Parts: sequence; structure tokens; C-alpha cells
Amino acid sequence: MLLARVAVPVPLGQAFSYSVGPELAERVRRGARVLCPFGRRRVLGVVLDVGDREPDVPLEKLKALTAVVDPEPVLPEELLGFLQEVARYYLCPVGEVIQLALPAVERSAAENLSLEEALPGKVVGRLVQTVKATGLEPTEKLRGRAPELIAYLREAGPQTLAELGERFSSARSLVARLEKLGLVEVTRVEVSVDPYREPVERDQPPELTPAQSAAVEAITGCLDRREPRSFLLDGVTASGKTEVYLRAVQRSLELGRGAIVLVPEIALTPQLVARFRARLGERIAVLHSAQSDRDRHAMWRSLRSGAVRVAVGARSALFAPVQDLGLVCIDEEHDGSFKQEDGVRYHARDMALLRAHRAGAVCVLGSATPSLASVSLVQQGKLEELRLPARARSTSALPEVEIVDLRRVGPGPGGEKLLSVALYRELERALAARQQSILFLNRRGFSPSLICEECGTIAECPNCSVALTLHRAGGERAVCHYCDFSRSVRQGCAECKNERLIEEGSGTERIESMLGAEFPSARIARLDRDVAAGAKSEKVLERVRRGDVDILVGTQMVTKGHDLPNVTLVGVLNADAALSMPDFRAAERSFHLLVQVAGRAGRAELPGRVLIQTRQPEHPAIVFAQQHDVRGFIRAELKAREELGYPPFSRLALVRFDAVDEARARDEAERLARIALRASEPGVEILGPAPAPIARLRSRFRFRFLLRARERGPLRKTLLSVLRASVNRHVRMAIDVDPMNML
Ligand SMILES: [Zn+2]
Ligand SMILES: [Zn+2]
Repeated sequence: MLLARVAVPVPLGQAFSYSVGPELAERVRRGARVLCPFGRRRVLGVVLDVGDREPDVPLEKLKALTAVVDPEPVLPEELLGFLQEVARYYLCPVGEVIQLALPAVERSAAENLSLEEALPGKVVGRLVQTVKATGLEPTEKLRGRAPELIAYLREAGPQTLAELGERFSSARSLVARLEKLGLVEVTRVEVSVDPYREPVERDQPPELTPAQSAAVEAITGCLDRREPRSFLLDGVTASGKTEVYLRAVQRSLELGRGAIVLVPEIALTPQLVARFRARLGERIAVLHSAQSDRDRHAMWRSLRSGAVRVAVGARSALFAPVQDLGLVCIDEEHDGSFKQEDGVRYHARDMALLRAHRAGAVCVLGSATPSLASVSLVQQGKLEELRLPARARSTSALPEVEIVDLRRVGPGPGGEKLLSVALYRELERALAARQQSILFLNRRGFSPSLICEECGTIAECPNCSVALTLHRAGGERAVCHYCDFSRSVRQGCAECKNERLIEEGSGTERIESMLGAEFPSARIARLDRDVAAGAKSEKVLERVRRGDVDILVGTQMVTKGHDLPNVTLVGVLNADAALSMPDFRAAERSFHLLVQVAGRAGRAELPGRVLIQTRQPEHPAIVFAQQHDVRGFIRAELKAREELGYPPFSRLALVRFDAVDEARARDEAERLARIALRASEPGVEILGPAPAPIARLRSRFRFRFLLRARERGPLRKTLLSVLRASVNRHVRMAIDVDPMNML
């Protein structure tokens, strides 16, 4: 009997068997999409294999495929095989993993989908209308500004409707009237509204430094020999890693092969993309979250067809259908945004190594502050290290870093604790020298907590076990940063109804207003999610680049690879916030953050200066960051991890439970932990169950237990027994393999 195994987009582990009718037998093939019945619905699935065999379900339950959607496989063989391995690695339903690789238009799984709807749609963008005069003479007298508009078109030549709108207030209706009379001709062209596709000029490749040359040669040598090797490109901030990626991509293209370049979500800016397009022309597809479904679909199709061979994007671009993949580059490989935290909880860096390996491609992981995971792979001989020890522009030295001990150094004028007198003086100096400063504080809002003056209760979110943050902009509101709950501060204390709440601590909003009061002539801008979500952040940075901003204050958004040449002062207002997170990676993350933000200072001709404010000046993450000693930090931190038995010296999996009812969530966590314990392979430790550090989130109580083992095999076997157990339907269980977020 001819059966097809089909991955359908449902949260169930396995693929499903369908019988294949004789009319479809010729056209069903691995990788093609099919329409198939599922319960009472019809869904789009992807065929994993077709073959003659005995059905694994009773004949009366076996359903037949409804239709074949694609004449050709929708996913290339290399990509499909990779996705199946991703599903296996993360113990995720294969149907859900495949969705990662299909754009929305290709995967529309609406109920009772018609075949027409399933087929790829037309690509649309913004409609641009160009108007020109025909030359014909009017047969009747024209009224209003119509004669003027025609005269203008004859004089100035064809104009877009938008341009006419600037001169003639009622251009749209005027043009419509004149078009009916045959006096103007309107051509309508759809253009993309993608900011990543603004025209750019081609650039001249710069001369490489000796270290860059050596790195490029090592990578292109492997490309030439089709040797699927993986590299860690370890280069200080501003050492020119991007140039190395560009050369490698270029070589891959010359060899007729494709490439994928992954960058952190926040670094995927039109500026970065313009650099790639300036070198590679229009041969790249940019995949970003702000893209419309249809634009994304167009990009996907051009990659799938091989018309475009390079994909640039954030983590999900790893699943781009690039043909004959020769190269995968991951910039800032240590960045947290490469881990997806819901659905399929994959890590794009780890999976990039897997995809490259399977495809016979070269993989390049780049960072100024490599993750311990990658350094450990170097030590195991699985990655080859390439180093760029100096900044590309030799005149720009690494900035001098000074530690400000907040326990000893008092606040400057104005009394704000986080604007210490030392930092205050440096800001004055930079302003006097007409140089720019960046202040980094990882807390948005005005004040991170509100405490009742009467009973001392901290205002908490009613849905989460999290303190509410005071936001002043847009009315005084107490806001939850996890679920976006907000209420007026005037409601007072939830416990004793007292009206006065004391503001405790400072966020970016308060610092911004403080700076405005202290330095009235300075131009101050803020960069955080509240003022500049998504593409707006680029506008703020553009103002900084133009020199219209003297002091930029913001959250992580200010720490990423923006090249802002006139910034000479960087202040880290409170290094302790990140250090105190209840997570074994807190020191590693703080160190990365400090080195990255310090790297913003003094990138051009001007020397930079960095002030790190802390109450723990002896903490290794701070001491090593002060000395720019990445190696030293990694050595010390690896030693600590080894002693504690944490990754990279062990493998972890977190099994999370959440439910509206606290007892239910706890009971299921305990029951499943017992199952795991009974089934556990030798060498697998079960830690917990325990409430999560954020015990309640979005009205759900959270518990978890952790599995730890030195080897992946036994850990995986134990997890499979957890996965097979049934879970109370009021409780959600999620397995996070190699978890990054321990909260
Ligand atoms: Zn109170
Ligand atoms: Zn909340």
C-alpha cells in the first residue's frame, strides 16, 4: 500500500501516515506540501517520505491525502534533513520545526483551506503612481488648479503623486479628474517599502590588516577545498570582523555556492545591511521581523529558486532555503537573541554548526567576547580559532576603563546616586570638548520599584511575581515589564490603600530627566523600548551619528555594534543589576555586556574613556572587563563552571510546568520529576522540582526541575521518558534542551 508520512503543524511529536490515491501517486514526493485531513480540519503538511508498506494504524482510521500542492519539493533536501535533526535534538514535533522554515504564506493552515489559497500569492508593496501630461488639449474649460497642474507637468516632466501632493493640496482628486479627461496618464508601479532596500552605492574593498588576511585565507581556503570546517573568529570590538565575513561570502558566491549570515536581532539595521549590499549588490535577501508576510515570502522564493544566494537575518534566517549552502557566518555568536525562548526552543548558534556540518559548509562564529560554549569547542578541537587582536584603524586604541566604587564615591550635583561625582565630571569634560557620551542602564522606566510609605509593601503585578516599574511619560503609571499590565499610581498601595508610594531606584527615564536638569544646554536622547521600538531606534542612532545628540542614555540597545565615531565617554551606571541575576551565566553575560558597551568608546581618532559604576569592584567580571582581558575572564569562569559542574562541563535540560492553579502545577512537576528519577540513566542528576525564580508569570504559577549529565545520550533517554508521560491537561509542560534563560 502506498503510504506517505507527513509532518503536520500540530504540537504532537510524530509524523502521520496517509494513504496516497493513484491519482496523486506520481506527484507525491519528499519535501512537497500536501493538503491532508486532520481531525475535522484540513491542514498543510510536508511529506517526509513515501513508500510501499503496511499501515501502522488500523485501515478504517487511515485517511487519504487530499491534494498535492507543490510540483517540486517546497524545501530542499539538505534543509529538510536538517530540520528533522533539529526536531530530534530538541525533542520537538517535527511538524512545528518545519514551520520555522516556511514563510507564513507558504504555511497558511487555515481550516478548510482551498487549493487556490494555498498557492503562493502576488508580492505587493507600496503603490507608486507616476503622473505625466499627455499633450492633448482640454475640450472644456478646466477649473480650479487643474490648468496649473498640467502646466507644471509639461514644464517639470513626469512626477509621482506624492511629489505633486507637496505642491498641490488636492493633487489626488485633481489627477483623478484629469485622468478621466485623458489629459494626464498615470502609471502605477508597486515598489517595496522595505527600509533594507534603499539604494546604496557599491563600495571598494578596503585593504586588509595582516590578521584579517590570515583569517580570510583560512576560511576561503576551506571553501576552495570544500572542506567543511568551523571557525571561531575572535576579534576585539572594531577589529573588522564584518570585512572578513564579506570576503568569505564573496568567495562562496564565486564558487557558485550560497551563504547565510546571522546577526543579533538588535544589530540587524539598515546600516549593516547597506554594508553587505554595497559589496555584494542585490544578491542578498534580508529576512527581518518588521517585514510584511508578502515581502518575506518574496525573499524566500528568490532564495528557494536560487535567484538569490545569500540570506542575512536574525536567528530564524538559519532556516532560509539557500541553495548549495557553502558558508554560515554568525556575528556576535555570544548574543542571547540567538536562543528562541518559546515554541521550538532552538539555539541558532548550535544549530548553525549542525546545518553547516551536514551541508558540507564552512561555519564562522565571530565575537569580541566569545561564549564559554564556543571557547570550550576550540579546546576540544571542534572549532579552529582565528584571532584579530587589534582594532582595524590602528589609531584607535582600546579605551581606558575606570571602576567607580559606588560605596565610596558619592553622587554628583543633583543628588542622583547613579550619576556619581566622577561620572558627572567626565560628562562635563566631554560636553566641553564637544564630544559625545553614552550612558548605559539596563532598566527602562522612571523608577524600578514603588514602596508604600505606610506599610512598606512593594507594588507588585497582580499577574506576575514581579515589582511594578514607575513610568512617568504618558501619565504616572505602574507597569509590569513582563505582561504589560499597568495601573495608575494614584490608586496607591494595594495592601493598605495608603496613597503615598515612594519611588525607589532609577531607570533610563529618570536619568534622562536628571541629565536635562543638570546639563540644560546639552542635547539628550534616550534609546530604549519605550521611546524607540524596532526601526525607530535607527532614527535615534542617526541623530547621534549626525552629531545632534550630546548624551545618549539607554538600555542594551546602546551596547550593540553601532559605529558611533564621536563617542568618547561611556558610563555604565549600574553594573550590579546584571551580576545579581539568579543564573549561573550572570557573570558571563555581565562581562559580555561590559566589554561590548566599553567598545562603543573611542572608535575613531579620539581616545575613549569608560566608567563602570558598581558596588562589587572586586568581582571578576568587572576586574577582567577593566583590563579588556577576555582570555583571563574565560579562564577564570571556565574554572568556576567546572567546579560547579555547569555547562560547558555538563549538559542541561529544564522541564518547565505552569498552570493557573498553583497546586496543580506543583503536583505535576513533582510527579514528572519522580518519573524522570525512576527512568534516569546512570550519570543523570535530577535537581528539583522547585518554583521558578519568577514564580508567577501572566497569572500562571511556574515550577521546574533540571536534568544534568555529562553526556547528551543518557540525558536524552531520560527526557524521552518524561516526554512520553501524559500531563494533566490544565498544566503546560515544556522541555528546554540547553536552556539559556534560567528564570
Ligand atoms: Zn501600604
Ligand atoms: Zn505582570
